[in-house]
Amino acid sequence: MSYLQERILSDGVALNEDVLKVDSFLNHQIDPVVMNEVSKEFVDYFGDKGITKVLTIEASGIAPAIWVASELQVPMVFAKKTEPSTMKSEDQYTHDVHSFTKNKTSRVIVSSKYLSADDRVLIIDDFLANAEASLGLVDIVKQSGAEIAGVGICIEKSFQPGRQKLEDAGIDVYSVARIKELGKDKITFEEGH
Ligand code: 5GP
Repeated sequence: MSYLQERILSDGVALNEDVLKVDSFLNHQIDPVVMNEVSKEFVDYFGDKGITKVLTIEASGIAPAIWVASELQVPMVFAKKTEPSTMKSEDQYTHDVHSFTKNKTSRVIVSSKYLSADDRVLIIDDFLANAEASLGLVDIVKQSGAEIAGVGICIEKSFQPGRQKLEDAGIDVYSVARIKELGKDKITFEEGH
């Protein structure tokens, strides 16, 4: 069992059968041991794919994405959920992303200065549920003309359709922990990544 799986079992809180709270090691307080483990797995899997940028979405994707980018020695870019006044004059790639946990749609923005057709992009996120966030980032990469090397996820909820949607779009997905079933006193994992 991986360290991330152990932390999910010992400290994760199933808020219901769909949502897992992991504020004590991933979404609020961040455990660097988890970050080291997930970034090492992402680098082992995607490291030979010629990645030039790591892309995520604020806020919870930033920690694992910067850890991976640091290992790969490439820049990390995060899609912003609000447009700062300093970006208004810049060309942008945008996509409307519906948040599973917040039940809210936000327009995510990446300046066109930081993604271009020469890039090969690894998308990283904390969770995969319905793939709204990942597919939004995939669309942003496509707008830039860059190539997608794959999607790396810390915690996939395999009982939700996100992975299938990404695979149907031809995208290579690697998840460190894959949850098969979520319940108050029961969390089970899927084999493989
Ligand atoms: P998706 O876009 O795949 O539907 O959902 C992924 C996003 O929603 C992640 O970026 C994450 O922030 C949030 N999310 C989805 N499911 C969960 C969950 O069970 N727990 C937490 N903490 N966040 C989740």
